[in-house]
Amino acid sequence: MADRQNLCDLTQPELGLLVAELGEPPYRARQIFAAIHRRRSRSFDEMSDLPKDMRLKLNQTATVSTLKLESRYLSTDGTRRYLFKTYDNLPVETVFIPEERRDTICFSSQSGCPLQCTFCLTAQLGLLRNLAAGEIVEQIIVALNDAYGSGVKTPRGTNLVGMGAGEPFLNFEALMKAIRIMAEPKGLRIVPRRVTVSTAGVVPRIRELATIPDRPNLAISLAAPTDELRDELMPINKKWPLRELLSACKDFERSLKRGERFTFEYVMLDGVNDSDEHARQLANLLNRYELRPKVNLIPHNPAEPLPYRPSPSERVEAFREILESKGVHTFVRKPRGRDIFAACGQLAARSGADFPGPLSNLRRTRVESLTV
Ligand code: SAH
Repeated sequence: MADRQNLCDLTQPELGLLVAELGEPPYRARQIFAAIHRRRSRSFDEMSDLPKDMRLKLNQTATVSTLKLESRYLSTDGTRRYLFKTYDNLPVETVFIPEERRDTICFSSQSGCPLQCTFCLTAQLGLLRNLAAGEIVEQIIVALNDAYGSGVKTPRGTNLVGMGAGEPFLNFEALMKAIRIMAEPKGLRIVPRRVTVSTAGVVPRIRELATIPDRPNLAISLAAPTDELRDELMPINKKWPLRELLSACKDFERSLKRGERFTFEYVMLDGVNDSDEHARQLANLLNRYELRPKVNLIPHNPAEPLPYRPSPSERVEAFREILESKGVHTFVRKPRGRDIFAACGQLAARSGADFPGPLSNLRRTRVESLTV
C-alpha cells in the first residue's frame, strides 16, 4: 500500500494532474473524484464507468482504500465505533453517533496522541503517527457507507467532529486538506461549518485558524480554570498557559461572523475540577477576557486505569447553574457509546479480546459481519 498513491488524499485538481500523467483526458479525473467521494466507492472495480484497462492501470499505481476495518462495535444507544488498521498496521478509530436531527461522525486526526492529558485514555497510546488527509477522508466514507448503505445518498446533512484520537492542531495541514476535500460540491459536500475541530490548546494554530475564511468551527478543551490545575490535568498548559490560550481565543472570537460561536469543553472530574469555587473561577476567567463562548460540560467517561470518576449529575447541574448565573451559556453533554469505549477520551484501540474482567462483554456487541 505504501508505494501506491491513495487517491482519497487528492483534491480534484491534484487528481487531474495524476490522470494527465497517465495520459488520460481530464474528464476521467472528474469521474474518479465522483466515484470516490460522491458514490463512496471503495475499489476501482466498482467504478464501472471507467474502461477496464484503465481500472487495471490504476490498480497498479494507486488505491482508494488504505484503511482496513478490523472491528465494529455497536452501543445500546446506537453509537458505532470502528477500529481500523492503517497500511502500516496502526490503529485508527472513528465513531458514528446517530442523533434525532442530524447524525455526527467523530474522526481521529492522529493514530494515538502525543499529549498527556491525565483523564484521557488515548494518551496512553502515545503518538504513533499523524494521519494523512486521505486517511481522515476514508474514515468518513466508511462510516457513511456503514450507516446509510454503500454509496447511498445520505438522508440528511452529517456533522463532523475532530474529537477522536489525536490532537488535530498538531496535524494541521492534513486536517485542513481533508476538510477541503470533504467540502467539494462534487464530492461528500460536507461544508466546513458542519465540521467542528477540537484542540487541547495549540495556540499558534488557533491564531492561524482565525485568519482562514472558510474554516471549521472551533472547540477548545479547557478542563480547569487555573494554571495550577490545568498544568496537572493537561501538560500542554505548561507550553501555552491560560493567559496565552485565552488571548488567542479572544482574537479568534473577534474573527467570528455574526451569530457564530466557539466552544469550550470542560470535562467534569469528581472532586477534582467540579466545585462551586471552580465554576466561579471559570466564569470569572471568561468574563475577564470578555469571552462569550458556549461551554459544554462533559461528564468524565471512566476507563481503567484512569484515576477519575464522573461528577454526579447534581454536581454538574450546580456547576452549570453557577456559570449561567454569571452569564455563561452552558450545556451538559450526554455521554454516548460508553459501553463500547466510543465516548470522549475512551479511544485507545481497545478490541473485544483485549478486555479483561467485566469489560470483556464488549465481545457481545461486536458486529461480526463486516459489510463496508
Ligand atoms: N486533542 C483534542 C481532541 C480530542 S479530545 C482535544 O483535546 O480537544 C476530545 C474531547 O474529549 C476533549 O474536549 C477532552 O477534554 C474530552 N475528553 C478526554 N478524555 C475524556 C474522558 N475520559 N471523559 C470525558 N471527556 C474526555
